[in-house]
Amino acid sequence: MSKFDHARFRAQFPLIGKAPLNPNLVYFDNGATTQKPSAVIEAEGAFYSSANSNVHRASFSLAATATDLFEGCRTKLANYFNAEHVNEIIFTKGTTESINLVALSWGQTYLSKGDEIILSAAEHHANIVPWQLIAEKTGAKIKWAELLPSGRIDLEQFEHLLTNKTKMVAINHISNVLGVINPVREIVKLAKQVGAYVLIDGAQSAAAIDVDVQSLGVDFYVCSSHKMYGPTGVGVLYGRREILDSMPPYQTGGEMITKVTRERTTFNKLPFKFEAGTPNIAGVVAFSKALDFIEQFSLKGLSFKNELIDYAYRKLSEVPQLSFLAEGKPDIPVFSFTLPQHLQDISAVLDSKGIAVRAGSLCAMPLMQSKGIEGCIRVSLAPYNTFEEIDYLIESLKRVLASDDEKAPSEAQQDDICADEAIMRDKFKSAGSWDLKQREIMLLGKSFTRMARENRIDEFLVQGCESKAWVTVSESNGHYFFEGDSDARIIRGLLAIVFAAFQGKTQQEILAFDIKEYFDSLGLIKHLSPSRGNGLNAIVAYISEQLTS
Ligand code: PMP
Repeated sequence: MSKFDHARFRAQFPLIGKAPLNPNLVYFDNGATTQKPSAVIEAEGAFYSSANSNVHRASFSLAATATDLFEGCRTKLANYFNAEHVNEIIFTKGTTESINLVALSWGQTYLSKGDEIILSAAEHHANIVPWQLIAEKTGAKIKWAELLPSGRIDLEQFEHLLTNKTKMVAINHISNVLGVINPVREIVKLAKQVGAYVLIDGAQSAAAIDVDVQSLGVDFYVCSSHKMYGPTGVGVLYGRREILDSMPPYQTGGEMITKVTRERTTFNKLPFKFEAGTPNIAGVVAFSKALDFIEQFSLKGLSFKNELIDYAYRKLSEVPQLSFLAEGKPDIPVFSFTLPQHLQDISAVLDSKGIAVRAGSLCAMPLMQSKGIEGCIRVSLAPYNTFEEIDYLIESLKRVLASDDEKAPSEAQQDDICADEAIMRDKFKSAGSWDLKQREIMLLGKSFTRMARENRIDEFLVQGCESKAWVTVSESNGHYFFEGDSDARIIRGLLAIVFAAFQGKTQQEILAFDIKEYFDSLGLIKHLSPSRGNGLNAIVAYISEQLTS
């Protein structure tokens, strides 16, 4: 096998840049979506400029070209997953829709009161909520497979969950939080002993490891193109033919019918029965290129990925305050951990250094609850990432950890800050780069006078902030005064900025104040992430509401 040419591989991704370290963008959120290679980006454009037509229904040659390209992807996917029949591959808009399709269509046919569905403690919400809804409708019950300290499903406990009422086992192949491969073959074997069906959520595995649906013996396998170097809005449902044949349509309309009269409709055969309406044709055509790309660079068996895992695991393990969510090295380069600082504070500082990581519950709240945490930081790598980027992350994490030691402004300086919005404007004008502005916000958050703990109650909670924020308003002689608090230092910093504009003013002055111009002049909004930008607006909206209600 020829050696992996990392530089050539990285150069395929226009957003990442060619240098091993681009401090403006270190993309470590590959678990959420991978970046796209030029071949995929170009394929989508090329479809629209040279082959655009609807598929299946028209009788002219352009439509035949479009249909061939579209169906070509289905054939590739059937080979990719080693499906027995090409019509076992259904196009959806993503993993989420694929699971909803099965839960609704299969669930309404096969589930009844008292039946059991087994999920694991590490499922993505996409593989929990559809089952909860169908369980509620049908009277079925959900049982939970627990995890070993390594993050893998505990087979012994799983085996005890199985009964002759178990109808569905729906679990991930690789968790988006823990990055470990579950023992799917053993799970299928045990599930089949009680006659249960098995759905595997392959969102994180389909581009990472070899998947042979026949050899695994699964009934359903689902994934998303956008986590496989392909475009968004395209997903796959693999289902065994006889089961798909026995399931009713999920959505109805054009394409999925053979005959419609005023009285009744007969449905099309597989796979079209489950593909109502015009699909994302250009997306599917570009997805075809992504599958070629995975093959061209032998991405599944790439030994470089192991080098990345080893390096990142070793470097992260050297950060003493860092605590991983699972024990040991993951199987794919996905690392989830907590640090003593608030998640929002960590991700905000990393963002100011150009590092994109995920912070929060990672759409796996039940897993966070079982770990007794609100969320975590996830660093998920792809083979275009570099050792230099990992070093840069570690350096930046160390800066975050050291930032608690930074000197807060003195009390006199603090009074100045709170007294006047003009001082705030000056402060931020002199902090030119976003990195420096971010540091100012964190320093403001550090010196911010916190609320009495007893006031941190739901009554004063600002809705719309990702982290908890509380605000109280008091009035004296027509002038308004504010107190506030938040778990996250960055939010306390933002509160300080808002309060500097409003503190001690009259209702008329506050309502007339041009807050947008103020935020713009500080250079805040365009840099704040959507959640923190919305948080800032939520604080302002809360204050106006309090003044006008
Ligand atoms: N399951 C897992 C394991 C995932 O990682 C994701 C995406 N984060 C999903 C399901 C949902 O995928 P999509 O948003 O593409 O439907």
